[in-house]
Amino acid sequence: MGIIEKMRLDGKKGFVTGAARGIGKCTATAFAEAGADVAIVDLDIEEAKKTATEIAEATGRNIIAIKCDVTSEADVQAMVNRVEAELGGLNFCHANAGICINVAAEEMTYAQWLKNIDVNLNSVFLTDTIAGKYMLAHGGGSIINTASMSAHIVNVPQPQCAYNASKAGVIQLTKSLAIEWAKKGVRVNSISPGYIGTDLTLSSEFLKPLIAKWKELSPTGRLGRPEELEAICVYLAGDTSDFTTGSDFIIDGAFTCF
Ligand code: NAD
Repeated sequence: MGIIEKMRLDGKKGFVTGAARGIGKCTATAFAEAGADVAIVDLDIEEAKKTATEIAEATGRNIIAIKCDVTSEADVQAMVNRVEAELGGLNFCHANAGICINVAAEEMTYAQWLKNIDVNLNSVFLTDTIAGKYMLAHGGGSIINTASMSAHIVNVPQPQCAYNASKAGVIQLTKSLAIEWAKKGVRVNSISPGYIGTDLTLSSEFLKPLIAKWKELSPTGRLGRPEELEAICVYLAGDTSDFTTGSDFIIDGAFTCF
């Protein structure tokens, strides 16, 4: 069997959070194209349903949409239960939902700080440990977390201290869980994208004027596309990455190299 065949996800079941659109929609599509059945998990259930239908029609896989606020322990537990019941198991997941609050530190309210940490970091703890508990009891699995290049560098010129801190936390959480579960068959890795053209970056009136500056600062002179994160996630979800755990993959067009 060739390497491309070995990387396929036929028979595997997984979920992606924040999958209604953007990066999550893209990786969910790639998982399905590689042969997996996938749950599209999002707060925005209408968009999640549209995405699920689109991916199911394109791939012929069993794709379901689940409404879930990833900051709610009860929601995440109910979501994992539904994945088990409706897809018939759970082999991999991509904890990807996230937000970015761009407010200067001295003007940021504590509520804004908490919200960013809750959606970006506490949710990853909930998703990883609830999915991980299932995987530990059912023969193992693979967990992928979306961190960011903001875990490695401080973006300029926009202020985003809570986002940067939350993403740095995602990487240390990833490594900690990888160590705890290394001999128990559950692998945990993260991806750290650079600037990617999604609603998060392109639809914000505050960020729009900064896009030219980001391109100027970027060695490639452009933003990344969500599609450029697909292959690494399919690799991490599947069996050819069995020795890969506790790693963070920076995909940023060399942005963090200087
Ligand atoms: P996006 O805004 O396009 O999509 C995020 C999705 O998450 C949305 O569908 C939204 O409804 C969902 N979501 C938000 N809060 C939620 C919650 N509490 N529960 C469930 N779902 C929720 O963003 P994106 O650009 O696709 O970003 C996805 C991830 O990638 C985020 O973690 C983000 O921080 C990270 N990231 C993005 C970039 C970038 O440049 N776009 C770069 C690095 C990292």
